[in-house]
Amino acid sequence: MYIYRRVVVKIGSNVLTRKDGTLDVTRMSALVDQLAELHKAGLELILVSSGAVAAGRSEIQASRKLGQVEQRQLYSAIGQAILINKYYDLFRDHNIVCGQILTTKENFADRRHYLNQKNCMEVMLENKVIPIVNENDTVSVTELMFTDNDELSGLIAGMMNAELLLILSNVDGIYKGHPDDPQSELIREILPKQELRQFISTDRSATGRGGMRTKYNIASKLAEEGIRVIIANGKIENIIPDLLSPKPRNKHSLFLPAEKTSAIKKWIAHSEGFAKGEVHINQGCAFALMQNQASLLPVGIERIGGEFEKGDIVRVVDHEGRQIGVGKIRCDSKAARSLIGSKGQKALIHYDYLYLE
Ligand code: GLU
Repeated sequence: MYIYRRVVVKIGSNVLTRKDGTLDVTRMSALVDQLAELHKAGLELILVSSGAVAAGRSEIQASRKLGQVEQRQLYSAIGQAILINKYYDLFRDHNIVCGQILTTKENFADRRHYLNQKNCMEVMLENKVIPIVNENDTVSVTELMFTDNDELSGLIAGMMNAELLLILSNVDGIYKGHPDDPQSELIREILPKQELRQFISTDRSATGRGGMRTKYNIASKLAEEGIRVIIANGKIENIIPDLLSPKPRNKHSLFLPAEKTSAIKKWIAHSEGFAKGEVHINQGCAFALMQNQASLLPVGIERIGGEFEKGDIVRVVDHEGRQIGVGKIRCDSKAARSLIGSKGQKALIHYDYLYLE
């Protein structure tokens, strides 16, 4: 018996590759067997799989010394083809069809692209096809990149309204201290708003781009939005069905969810990276926003920073210069400046389009 209906499973490069960097097909096959079992039980699964760059790297010897960006482009172009072919064959052995979604950070910034992606995955799920998502590493370079696939999986889980995001890596969960240090303690449960950031190691993994700190950050943010997150070891036998059952036996870290937030707020929460300007507000206004589920009115505004258009995402900054949230603004920066401090005006950011941190 499984307690979820829609689940996003993220598999890290370090789960899918061997020590020598080649794709670990035995592991992939074991993971696909587990996913197939869940699929047959009627669960809607979305897979976010890394491993393209790692798979491509071991496939080709470049003819000259390549820069970092070129390497990532070349290896991911080759490796993604290898990866998806492998998944396709493995799922086909179970009579399951999978499909490929390659995306970029920009697709999450634009509401239309965002909805197009969402609709695409909805129609795949409706037809019992398992979407396999990865970043389009061939075109998303440097500042346009997701921090890592953990960030991508968080966005996908939010967008698809999943009940659970399961992040599989090569350690048992989040530790207080470095995962390799035997003294470090596994954190089994994290409550909403519980702050453990200072204990988490900032080291990154050798094969993928992620690390424990980003996993922690993404997981807390999602849990805040009402989605459960589990971080566990993808190398343990039969780990996925176990963790989706009512009483998991294997070690893991669980982030307990707070109440659900609306879909639009979720999108805004994740759009922070695209904020075009700032709305600086006074103390009274900050207080009202935090306490009363209020909209942001011109009367509480002290200053407008940067240039933006109507409908852009802006940061909301309090009187001490701290960012307290992000929202979708109803007018451009020129109009916003002309309204500073004025009473009796319509809200500049409506409550429904305001995400407070
Ligand atoms: N998209 C990259 C890949 O498939 C992985 C990024 C990450 O490691 O998080 O190789």
